[in-house]
Amino acid sequence: MGGDVLLNVAATMSHSRANGPGVRAVIWVQGCTIGCPGCYNAFTHAHKQKNLVSPQTIAEWVAGLDGIEGVSFSGGEPFEQAKAVWLTTQAIRRMNPSLTFFSYSGFDLDVLQQSRDENVTGLLNELDILSAGPYMHSKRDSGLLWRGSSNQKLHYLSDVYSESKEFEWSRSSPVEEFHFDGDVIHFTGFEGKGSKFMRAVNHELKSLSTSG
Ligand code: SF4
Repeated sequence: MGGDVLLNVAATMSHSRANGPGVRAVIWVQGCTIGCPGCYNAFTHAHKQKNLVSPQTIAEWVAGLDGIEGVSFSGGEPFEQAKAVWLTTQAIRRMNPSLTFFSYSGFDLDVLQQSRDENVTGLLNELDILSAGPYMHSKRDSGLLWRGSSNQKLHYLSDVYSESKEFEWSRSSPVEEFHFDGDVIHFTGFEGKGSKFMRAVNHELKSLSTSG
C-alpha cells in the first residue's frame, strides 16, 4: 500500500530535545501554504521538490538512531503531505513499535478533525501529541512549550503522554537548540533570545567562507 508515495523532506535532525518529549528525530517537510506572517521557517514554504524520500527509507534511518524516544514532524505543513507522513509513521511503527509521534501543524485541531481526507484522519490517529494552530506574531510568547504563540495548543491524542508532564518537559526541553556541522550553525525550536545572535554568527561565517 502506498509504495509509490514519497515524502518531500526539507531537512532532518537525528537528535533534538526541542521538538517534543525527550530526545527525538525531527523531520521538516517541505511545503506550507498557510503563510503565517513572521514564520521563521520560510525556507520550507515552497511546494517544490527538495528531497523525495520513501516512508520505508525514513523508517530505516530512524531504526538506526540510538537513544530516541520518538519522531517529530515539523515544517512546512505535515498535513499538506498527510498521506506520505501517515505512511511514514506506519513504516516507522512497524520497525520501532515503542517510538512515539509528535507533529506540528498550522491548522487547528478542529479543522483537521472535520477533514474528510482519510489520510488526515489516519495521521491524527497515529499521533501522540499535536502542536496545533497558526503562528500569530502578535501573540508571540517565547516561554511556551513547543509553541511560538499563545493561540497555539498542545493536544494529547493518545494516552501515552499527558498535560501533567508539561512542567517537567518545560525544564528539560530547550526553547531553542543549535547544532554546528562544521560550516553552519543549525537552529531549531522557537526563536528565543539567542537566535538573532546565532543568525548573525551564521551570516558572518558565510561571509568569511565566500570572501576567503
Ligand atoms: S504553518 Fe508553520 S510553516 Fe506554515 S507558515 Fe505557519 S508557522 Fe510557518
